[in-house]
Amino acid sequence: MCYCWLRGAGTIIATSLVRAGIGRVKIIDRDFIEYHNLQRQVLFDEDDIKNELPKAIAAERHLKKVNSSVEVEGIVADVNFTNIEKLVSGTDLILDGLDNLETRYLINDVSLKHNIPWIYGGAISSYGMTLNIIPGKTACLRCFSPDSSRHRMGWTCDTAGVINPAPFIIGSLQVVEAIKILVGAELK
Ligand SMILES: [Zn+2]
Repeated sequence: MCYCWLRGAGTIIATSLVRAGIGRVKIIDRDFIEYHNLQRQVLFDEDDIKNELPKAIAAERHLKKVNSSVEVEGIVADVNFTNIEKLVSGTDLILDGLDNLETRYLINDVSLKHNIPWIYGGAISSYGMTLNIIPGKTACLRCFSPDSSRHRMGWTCDTAGVINPAPFIIGSLQVVEAIKILVGAELK
């Protein structure tokens, strides 16, 4: 079971995991789809916007048609400190398709607390980064930067822009690492 969020990389992550036959995928997102999202959010189309669907619901509908053997659940929720533990309870792996560092620190802390690996991913402009964070084995986000407030530059894909290969590549790399972790092939 995996969790992900639906920015550019998140749509690549969700579609790749479901097409790969990962048994259960939960997709969490609070937003609705806008036309400017379609440049990089490959799960959605103009009909989803006309139907005023939340991203999580549109993603669930599309992905259930892709692979009906996978249990896909779209959850419309704003992830925060009051609900994150319930949302990730029982999961094997968390994939980050987020657009903000505050929520990444929340994921980091809940990952360490409940011993759930997570895969950081971020893309902006023409570049990106990804990092496996495995409790007890690797450094975590706070090892690199203990204080989340130092990173509030305010840059997002909406303000700084992003060309679509950047999130496509980062999301794909996250899925490579996810499959390795899920089959127990990481760090070998
Ligand atoms: Zn750490």
